Amino acid sequence: MEEFNTKFTDVNTLGEFGLIDHLTKDFIPQHKSTVKGIGDDAAVIDCGDSCVLVSTDLLVEGIHFDLMYTPLKHLGYKSVIVNLSDIYAMNAQAEQITVSIALSSKFSVEALEELYKGIHEACRIYNVDLVGGDTTSSPKGLTISITAIGKAKKDKVVYRSGAKKGDIVCISGDLGAAYLGLQILEREKQLYLNNPGIQPDLENQKYLLERQLKPEARKDIIDYFLKSELKPSAMIDISDGLASDLMHICKESNVGAYLEEGKIPIKQEAQLMAIKFQLDPVTTALNGGEDYELLFTVDEKDLEKIRLMPSVYIIGEITDRKDGITLHTTGGNIHPLKAQGWNHFNPAEENN
Ligand code: ADP
Ligand code: MG
Repeated sequence: MEEFNTKFTDVNTLGEFGLIDHLTKDFIPQHKSTVKGIGDDAAVIDCGDSCVLVSTDLLVEGIHFDLMYTPLKHLGYKSVIVNLSDIYAMNAQAEQITVSIALSSKFSVEALEELYKGIHEACRIYNVDLVGGDTTSSPKGLTISITAIGKAKKDKVVYRSGAKKGDIVCISGDLGAAYLGLQILEREKQLYLNNPGIQPDLENQKYLLERQLKPEARKDIIDYFLKSELKPSAMIDISDGLASDLMHICKESNVGAYLEEGKIPIKQEAQLMAIKFQLDPVTTALNGGEDYELLFTVDEKDLEKIRLMPSVYIIGEITDRKDGITLHTTGGNIHPLKAQGWNHFNPAEENN
């Protein structure tokens, strides 16, 4: 009898990025119009004078969101935001989205109306059109897949790959708050599960909770770049965490970098909450993720323009690849930067 190959490889052995590389390595773009395929925040398609940008994200109940503490309206809003953020990370304007949902019978029309109220609100505020999607049933839970479509002049598109030695590393806002908001929600969920009579104690942490439940995408930063004729050399949005996302820029640009610990922006609310959870505030900023700020690099000559930008922090510098990616601590030490990121195949290690 023929022997079947029963040796299967656990997807965890490759990790998320290893798996994507493994599955897609044999797909070589055949069209001249495919300017950038896999490997950046969005794909870039040449359309003559301008480029079209395309980015997709998938949100799965129980993996990316928990309906015990996520209002459906906020979920709809956030689902759009995380996609728009990837278009802005290419220095492009988002113009359309498609929304696909798979849902179990536990969802009522009223519940879905709430979800779509949030989607509508994000479309209104960010000026994007909902132009299609798909709807299907699912044996369990809710899955939302959104595709965002954007546009940019060809010479304005910014990739992860353009950082050069001597460039300045910048971040568009404070980090770590979204992760700490999630920690509060998870703590209250556990307390509630153990004692359903208990009222949640959200400790008046409006900022941290909003950063987790209702984040914003930094369209204002892209608008500012256009207005001040500033083009970053490389850019990415913070979805996995500063450390992991800086590593993407360094890998794609073939450079190293250092961050100055003391310059990483962390709000006081986040500092205090981190300590309360016995976490190092800097570690939450480096590895927390879901902040949806823009991490970008600019040439030294643009330093003055950057200094004029509201809410932009200079946090480090691009170096030679051989120098690695390091953290210069306030105590004067130099540590190699570690990226924890998030392993979406191991729910036990999930951040959300
Ligand atoms: P982001 O965090 O910016 O949304 P991801 O880390 O999800 O980006 O994806 C990295 C790159 O891999 C992107 O170019 C994305 O389009 C691509 N990608 C992710 N999953 C797949 C897949 N299953 N098949 C093909 N390409 C994929
Ligand atoms: Mg991204």
